[in-house]
Amino acid sequence: MKPAASTLVCAGCGWAAPPPEELRYPFRCPRAGRGDTDHVVTRKLNSLRVELARGDDPNPFIRYRELLHSWHLARRRGLSDAAYVALVRELDVAVARVDGRAFRTTPFGRQNALSDRLGFGPTGGVWVKDETGNVSGSHKARHLMGILLYLQVVERGERPGLAIASCGNAALAAAVLARAANRPLQVFVPLDADAVVLDRLGTLGAQIESCPRQPGSKLHSRTLWN
Ligand SMILES: [Zn+2]
Repeated sequence: MKPAASTLVCAGCGWAAPPPEELRYPFRCPRAGRGDTDHVVTRKLNSLRVELARGDDPNPFIRYRELLHSWHLARRRGLSDAAYVALVRELDVAVARVDGRAFRTTPFGRQNALSDRLGFGPTGGVWVKDETGNVSGSHKARHLMGILLYLQVVERGERPGLAIASCGNAALAAAVLARAANRPLQVFVPLDADAVVLDRLGTLGAQIESCPRQPGSKLHSRTLWN
């Protein structure tokens, strides 16, 4: 059997995740906490086996789908390319219905007013990548969309609940995606979470759990899928 074009590997210690038939949710390295290394499970591409079609679809999850682990997994499991594209498209339409924004390439260009203020001539200038129009207002939804596509492929119609620990943007992003995918979501927030964020999370149907921060701990976004 040919080696997989895409695998999940821990960037910290090299642990290779078994296929989903053996381990359905390989998002956490089993050696996490061991040694002075950050155990982060990442997608590793076999560059000899990846070919990019490079279409011009405005949705980057469709345009660059050959780079996604979920696309390789879907193809190995017998899903056609067209069926995968339809899955992304359907989710994207649902995201736009919930948030008013879909996943699109964000604009990048020369900002003339800013360039003039800073004294640049016509051959120079300041170029800005504008990320403010992202789904849920930050880049966080893009990270979670990759995981959600994996779940949609692996779970095939089941819709188990999701959970996230976050004090802001990641929680909002998760709430939009969970709503779009019609899945329940628990959000674990610190006691001093922003009232505006909590209000929006409630509107999106997330179940909010307030947790005291443990002394000495830093809070990062952590995504858990039960
Ligand atoms: Zn590891």
